[in-house]
Amino acid sequence: MPNDIAAKLYRLRDALTGPQTLAFLPALCLGAYWFGGESLLIACALLLPALAAFLSVTNGVCRHGPVARDGLTGLPLRRAITDTLDQFLDARDTTGRTTACLVVEIDDFRALGSGFGASASDDILIAATRRLQDALRDHDTIARLEGARFAIALAPVRRADLESLIQLASRLQAALSEPFSINASKIFATASIGFCMPNRAPAASGQAFLDAAEIALSDAHHNGPGSIRAYSPAISPRTLDRISLNTDVGEALENGQILPWFQPQISTDTGEVSGMEALARWAHPEQGILTPGQFMSDIEELGLLERLSEVMLYHALKALKTWDRAGFHIPSVAVNFSPTDLANPKIVDKIRWELDRFELLPSRLSVEILESVISSSDNDTITRNIWALKEMGCGIDLDDYGTGHASIANIRRFAVKRIKIDRSYVSRCDLDRDQQSMLAAILTMAERLDLATLAEGVETVGEHAMLSQLGCNHVQGFSISRPMAFEQTLAWMETHNRKLAQAPQIGRRAS
Ligand code: C2E
Ligand code: CA
Ligand code: CA
Repeated sequence: MPNDIAAKLYRLRDALTGPQTLAFLPALCLGAYWFGGESLLIACALLLPALAAFLSVTNGVCRHGPVARDGLTGLPLRRAITDTLDQFLDARDTTGRTTACLVVEIDDFRALGSGFGASASDDILIAATRRLQDALRDHDTIARLEGARFAIALAPVRRADLESLIQLASRLQAALSEPFSINASKIFATASIGFCMPNRAPAASGQAFLDAAEIALSDAHHNGPGSIRAYSPAISPRTLDRISLNTDVGEALENGQILPWFQPQISTDTGEVSGMEALARWAHPEQGILTPGQFMSDIEELGLLERLSEVMLYHALKALKTWDRAGFHIPSVAVNFSPTDLANPKIVDKIRWELDRFELLPSRLSVEILESVISSSDNDTITRNIWALKEMGCGIDLDDYGTGHASIANIRRFAVKRIKIDRSYVSRCDLDRDQQSMLAAILTMAERLDLATLAEGVETVGEHAMLSQLGCNHVQGFSISRPMAFEQTLAWMETHNRKLAQAPQIGRRAS
């Protein structure tokens, strides 16, 4: 059956056999009697069920079973993609047209809507669905997989090569990059995309296309947010295997596979490095470099958060000592501490002991605390610990500022020294006036409270320049450097210092 006709039939069948239409069946019959008398009533009563039955038969031929739909977005589910791809692939020889499968996922979705109300995530998903549908052609099939992940089966086309698929993927990313308006706030999202081209597919089946596109997506995730990856057999071994990750994570912590990578923080005044944030990375022997999003929940589930902090603190301070010895001036290193760490009555002693071991002053360590911890915490131990760390001389950085509703009273109560302005306020700040106003308000408040400011997630030179202009003290983000392994930091510092020496005016603009 030609695919265009099939697609129309599916839609007609879904419309006519859907619950809305069936609910109106008695009214239709009544209407027929009203306008056309008894003969039209009989025709209507006989023909409508016959049509529905015919369409159910075509359903049996064309697809397996009724279309199950996602309650929130109304999209069909995973099965619709594999079935549709199977039909398109079957028809390939007669039509001379081929297909491809794409899988799109909104990055960091769980964090994205948090702090914007209970329904924010649902609203984003519904809006994202509509935008993806608008960016696709009528006959392409889109389904919701799980979370913020969608799959697309491309309606048959003459060409589904690398160039055309990258173009389509970029169009889908652009559709999702427009801000989502939620509760009078703008939320900026990025999406990663993996796809499988017909000439690279591991087998000619819908399931094989979808699996391959999901493998490509996990490869895209390895490359940071907003990446696009095509499936190639070489990336298969790096597919994530959650079950084996869970059992290995404890061992990985002990045998040095989980270590900090470092992301530079730059002073907007001088262009010099003002610190490095330690971010956990797992160098998995088979799956390559994994990011916290891929293993943090396992660490938490296994009760290993405190062990992670010990490992991170030890290696971060060791790195600081090595930079000192190599003659690089890096004022401080920042380590992320979880609420579980901060509730531990021994945390202050542990940190003091590690600093002593490396003969480092407490001021060389910034303790990163999530804004949500201080906005919700009435835990006395946490308050006492943070205060004791401040008294000892450590810097207290308030992470993800703007997502957790910390009151000014709490910022004072917890002795915060610097706020790290969340990426959601930074994205496109050079292009969007509302973003600029929000940033200006945050920066004014910080100045009044005598708090230093750092903007995170600075992705472009334009954002960097705007933040300098608005008076933000420090910046951190991909436009300066992605997080890197310790070994790479030495060469990066060399290059950065050389650039600074060559172009003194660089300070207030770019690195
Ligand atoms: P975070 O503390 O907010 O760290 C910043 C995250 O943003 C990092 O993700 C970093 O790679 C990413 N990032 C940096 N620059 C940019 C940019 O320009 N654009 C975008 N889109 N992203 C950027 P990562 O490394 O995946 O870490 C995610 C989160 O995991 C961290 O968020 C932090 O909350 C947590 N985490 C990382 N390491 C540790 C750790 O050792 N202990 C604890 N408790 N949490 C950690
Ligand atoms: Ca952080
Ligand atoms: Ca952050």
